Amino acid sequence: MTRSRRRQLRIFLTVLLSLLLVTAAGIGAFRASVSDALDVMQRRAGQRLDLYSTSLESEIARYAQLPGILGLAQPVDALIHDPNNPQRQQEANRYLERLAERTGASAIYIQDWLGEVVATSNWQRSDSYLGENDAYRPYFQDAAAGGAGRFFGVGTSRSEPGYYLSDGLYDGPRLLGVAVVKISLARVEKAWAESKSLVLVTDQNGVVILSSEPRWKFTAAEPLDAAVRAEFDRTRQYNRLPLPPLGLKTLRRLDSDVQVVLLPKASTSLPSSDPYPRHFLAKSRALAQSDWRVTELLSLDAVYELAYSRAALAGVLTALAIVALLWWSERRRHVRDKLAAREALQRAYNELERKVEDRTADLSSTNLRLQAEVAERARAEQHLRQTQDELVQAGKLAVIGQLSTGVAHELNQPLAAVRTLSGNAIRFLERGDLATASANLSTINELVEKMGSITSALRSFARKSTSSVGVTQLQRAIDNALFLVDQRLKKTRTQVLRPTMPETLAVRCDPNRFEQVLVNLLTNALDELENYPAPRIEITCRRDGAQVVLSVRDNGPGLADSVRAHLFEPFFTTKPAGIGLGLGLTLSAGIVAEAGGALMGDNHPEGGAQFTLTLPAVSEEEQHD
Ligand code: ADP
Repeated sequence: MTRSRRRQLRIFLTVLLSLLLVTAAGIGAFRASVSDALDVMQRRAGQRLDLYSTSLESEIARYAQLPGILGLAQPVDALIHDPNNPQRQQEANRYLERLAERTGASAIYIQDWLGEVVATSNWQRSDSYLGENDAYRPYFQDAAAGGAGRFFGVGTSRSEPGYYLSDGLYDGPRLLGVAVVKISLARVEKAWAESKSLVLVTDQNGVVILSSEPRWKFTAAEPLDAAVRAEFDRTRQYNRLPLPPLGLKTLRRLDSDVQVVLLPKASTSLPSSDPYPRHFLAKSRALAQSDWRVTELLSLDAVYELAYSRAALAGVLTALAIVALLWWSERRRHVRDKLAAREALQRAYNELERKVEDRTADLSSTNLRLQAEVAERARAEQHLRQTQDELVQAGKLAVIGQLSTGVAHELNQPLAAVRTLSGNAIRFLERGDLATASANLSTINELVEKMGSITSALRSFARKSTSSVGVTQLQRAIDNALFLVDQRLKKTRTQVLRPTMPETLAVRCDPNRFEQVLVNLLTNALDELENYPAPRIEITCRRDGAQVVLSVRDNGPGLADSVRAHLFEPFFTTKPAGIGLGLGLTLSAGIVAEAGGALMGDNHPEGGAQFTLTLPAVSEEEQHD
């Protein structure tokens, strides 16, 4: 996996983990908040529920004994013994009317043993119960069966809901009729509504019979099946009210009596502009001595709102903590990286320092060695130069040796002439012929001068020169060299072709040494031309840019291949011992190279050997300087 991929994966996992943590913190805070609030509400609801049920129970209890004791009242007793007597009926009606007024019951009435109402408190009203038969209603049946009837129902004549309490009226064991007290529980309801609580009471069928919210009344808190609805039709318990479902949905059951419920907006019992909150904590309890249940609904919206904001806060705090943690760890890593980098740098620096020290030590030892070598080389060069100078001198002496016979011959002639002329001069002086003697003496003088020039040329050639720098006038140098070999040229009848060139043409070289090179080339040519027909030496000279090219060519045998390969090697010679040393060309090449030029030897296309030397030219101005 590449570095960047690993980094991407790490970022992805960190983000994922952070999201999970934030979500978990939010959910945790939400749950904790809701559960705390539910606990508190549950307790509160419990206390209030006690209050509500007590108020309802005491309201019912106020009337509980009334039906039973009605049989003891004289008008009632008289009536049930003679139900068809209008007089008695009238008395009973009046009595019941007064009693209802006094007790606050909504109606009190007496049924004969067949269920027909024979006297009622509301006898004066047009829709009075008189003559109605309620035998089918459970409270009659229960009372007729010997018990106390308790029944909540909706009145059939005026559709007024009410709680019916009934008891049998007996003559000994014989049932004569049933006394019924109908009470309205509206007062209780009103009190609940005023306390701004949502309280409802459901009967054994799950039908809301009392509610602080009027619109919830006569709705079905639990679904009603067809059989139950048929039974309602028969008993007309709810006087055929439609009983739509209330639509409460249980979300969570916290306890057998406590649950979290939801009232959907679409609940049929409510108009769409439902003013009520949607989530409730529903706590219920059974009413004493009845199948009813009292339920209080507490809105949970505030609870959820608080829980949501706590969840958001927890999420934000967790996110902040994560960010801080990430920042801290990133910083730590940064610091660690920086430290590591610094350490690495320090290590590298130390290593470098060590290497530099090593190298310095190496260098100083190399330096010392080099210095020693340089000194050694300088000494060797000095030695070489000395040797070279000595060699040059030796080469020169060798040339002089070669020339000596010619020189001796050259001097012999004038010497003999001087001897003859001086002898003659003495004789002319003795005769007194002064004119002839003086002529002889001046000839002698000329000859001596000539001899002097020969010896001075030789002396100057033989002079030991050590410098390779200087300026050589080519014209003069060629003259001097030819003068030195003049005797040999004459003797071998060698024709010399001299170059035509400006008098001022000059090269950068010591004149003495340059002449030595020329003499060398000329004597080599003369050596080869010995006994060769029509010997000829041609000297050419030309300026080529900053160089001067001078060549000496002969028409001798030329250079054999075997010779050409070794021309400039020291001690290479094809001449017999005593004549050639094999150093001439070696030394000449050395002299030319030292002056910054080059010497080459080759065969001329038209035959014979040709030696060419190239040297830096010296301009006229430089010569003057
Ligand atoms: P040395 O003259 O003492 O032999 P050099 O170094 O002057 O030494 O010459 C080396 C050789 O080069 C000579 O022995 C000769 O064989 C050859 N050589 C030099 N000049 C010529 C020439 N002009 N023609 C033919 N051969 C030559």
